Amino acid sequence: MVANAVVLVVAIGVLLILPTPGEPPARNISTSGDPGVVKGPATPPKAELPSAGLPEPIVATPEFARQVKANEAGMVPVLMYHRIMKKRLASIDRTPDQVRGEMEKLARDGYVPITAREFAAGRIDIPAGKHPVVLTFDDGHASHFALDDAGMPVKDTAVGIIYQVAQKYPDFRPVATFWVNRQPFGLQSRADQARAVQWLTSRGFEVANHTWSHPYLPGLSRKRIAEQLVRVERMLGAFGSGPSETLALPFGAMPRARSTVQRGKWDGTPFAFKGVFLAGAQPSVSPFTEDYDWRSIQRIQSNGKKGECRKWCSQYWLEWLNKHPDQRYTADGDPERISIPGKLRGNISSKRRQQVNAY
Ligand SMILES: [Zn+2]
Repeated sequence: MVANAVVLVVAIGVLLILPTPGEPPARNISTSGDPGVVKGPATPPKAELPSAGLPEPIVATPEFARQVKANEAGMVPVLMYHRIMKKRLASIDRTPDQVRGEMEKLARDGYVPITAREFAAGRIDIPAGKHPVVLTFDDGHASHFALDDAGMPVKDTAVGIIYQVAQKYPDFRPVATFWVNRQPFGLQSRADQARAVQWLTSRGFEVANHTWSHPYLPGLSRKRIAEQLVRVERMLGAFGSGPSETLALPFGAMPRARSTVQRGKWDGTPFAFKGVFLAGAQPSVSPFTEDYDWRSIQRIQSNGKKGECRKWCSQYWLEWLNKHPDQRYTADGDPERISIPGKLRGNISSKRRQQVNAY
């Protein structure tokens, strides 16, 4: 009992400390390694932007897990964005206001972003009572990331919007995953691309593989698929940010031989992913469940509720998750334990059973 009381006091302390700025430095971020390619520009001091760090984790008891309604067997929305444009040209384009509005709503609803790599590794290290969300941007479009003359992210880019939301809602951790092709962020020179990728990865963002030229993979041989993946691995490696741990399939299209996109080798260079993401139509199951398959992870297209999106896109699913809180992943604030209501014990994968904290 005494130990539990201590844990609770610590936990409450952590919850109270949360909104204050000046968090500890980011954990679990990738370092950019030896840049080698190019020297960075005059980037602003990192203190000017919200940090990707989080408060120190706590030790969750069953009592505490019950209090915060932890359910780490619940579903996680992995949101998929494409271009961000003032004037939408395709149904999958979103305007800056639409993206900002959706992210502010996520923040108000208690979501905390994690990267795709963290999700696939089961590294869901967010405060107790919060819900993870994975923000993913496909195709490395110029509207995802650009720096202005002062070296700050341009306002209506994905990164600019994420930082605006994090400034307004300090619990909203500014991280996301960018899946890129051969011309990251529409930048022409390899030096500019390297600088962009290093800027992002040094702040906790993930930049990973979306194939070299965005082909329909089911139409390609094993060798051609490996070439498509290795060319991106070599590019990101030269930028100091490889190897990729995650892959988003172009068009969400899975080759019949699923192993071809999981690991392999081309021209002497290997690749190996820990999470392969689809274009999807529903929230993902928790990475701790028996049903979880890292080889085909579901995503949800960011969009309203019209036409094809009547049921399958983000507005529909985020409303659904708000209406079904017992189906949603809610964290216990303890990255070592998997807290769940006792009746969900059977849903946890056998290799994770040691970590279960049931109530
Ligand atoms: Zn794509």
